[in-house]
Amino acid sequence: MLTYYIITFGCQMNKADSERLSFYLEKNNFILAENQFRADVLIVTTCGIRQSAENRVYSLVHQVKKKNPKTIVVITGCLSERKDVRSRIKNKVDIWLPIKELTSLVPKIKNKISNPLIAKDYLSVAPKYESAFSAYVPIGNGCNNFCSYCVVPYARGREKYRPASEIIKEVRGLIKNGYKEVILIAQNVNSYHSGSIDFTRLLARVNDLPGDFWIRFVSSHPKDISPKLIEALGRCSKVCEHVHFALQSGDDEILRNMNRQYTAAHFQNLVKKIRSVGRKYKPGLPMAITTDVIVGFPGETRKQFLNTVKVFKATKFDMAYISQYSPRYGTASYQMKDDVSKVEKKRRENVLTKILSQTARVNNKYYLKKIVPVLIEGRNRQGEWYGKTRTYKLVRITGTPVNNLAGSFGLVKINKVRDLSLEGNIIAQYE
Ligand code: SF4
Repeated sequence: MLTYYIITFGCQMNKADSERLSFYLEKNNFILAENQFRADVLIVTTCGIRQSAENRVYSLVHQVKKKNPKTIVVITGCLSERKDVRSRIKNKVDIWLPIKELTSLVPKIKNKISNPLIAKDYLSVAPKYESAFSAYVPIGNGCNNFCSYCVVPYARGREKYRPASEIIKEVRGLIKNGYKEVILIAQNVNSYHSGSIDFTRLLARVNDLPGDFWIRFVSSHPKDISPKLIEALGRCSKVCEHVHFALQSGDDEILRNMNRQYTAAHFQNLVKKIRSVGRKYKPGLPMAITTDVIVGFPGETRKQFLNTVKVFKATKFDMAYISQYSPRYGTASYQMKDDVSKVEKKRRENVLTKILSQTARVNNKYYLKKIVPVLIEGRNRQGEWYGKTRTYKLVRITGTPVNNLAGSFGLVKINKVRDLSLEGNIIAQYE
């Protein structure tokens, strides 16, 4: 029997892909190894969004091959189809596996394995869920948008969506097994379609399944968030009061150069509508808005950056993932001059981080003295329980409850707020 180990970089979609790889390998008699150095097969699910994640892959592959040259190294994810990456580490990688070819992995590794699993589409392969109470459910893969800085359309190919019946079946199974949180995931969930079912209808169908569970979804593209979807966010009681969608820049010219296909005003209008639908249907919790933003895109002047600052101040995000632009090989912006210095990118990142801290803290003050439901995830290094609210706020639970809380809902009274987290004590626990 062969052993395997998977290391995952990057987004939740990669995490969901790794879960499917695990199941596929175990179905084919592979056993999980203790760590990357003890595995016969090491699979690296890679991310090409940031240079730092890419560098970590080079160093990992180097270390593993140095320690154990017989390890079969498999590279999947964003970097698997990049010519420059292939040539840089070709001597250390045994198999390059675009993720849509997942089901060809076993024959590629070892043709003597009996009973290989055959499936047409890799998303039809069941995953081995990492968590026992929260699961990513991919509803599709790939992207048609070609934002000028992004490798995803090249790495994952064009959009392809799973049949709604298959998604519903997977979610039904999760609920039956006691899962409390289902996260529908695709590069662009709003573009989902399967026959006559669009994302709004899919969301409503999942919401109608019986059981006490929460629904989240990532990622949403601002150009595709329809009024119908916003209304559904309010009406579907199980859908959490949290929307994550990427602003990327608050300047219209930069947005055009990024090929994002919306304006800053459109983005802000969506935020307004989402918050207002939240107030109408779910007055218990304010709708949380989180985002991604890139600073130092080619040609971004100080004045253009100040437009992002303006949107940041006006929107009052609950969380933002701020990244410094780095050119990704093969993308349209790779041809543009990366002309904002490293120091200036860092300065811009710091400016936005500071605004985020302020707005998030002000938003968090709403929770003070309130009792809110929390899905408890586990213990931190200090041994304290922690979890998330429906609005995706991290909550530290102080005091030492004796029960095992992981995977259950708790009602937590919030008695302290920080910039990016809350703190409170548990009043009640329920399944
Ligand atoms: S929408 Fe843009 S940023 Fe998102 S995956 Fe597609 S190309 Fe990349």
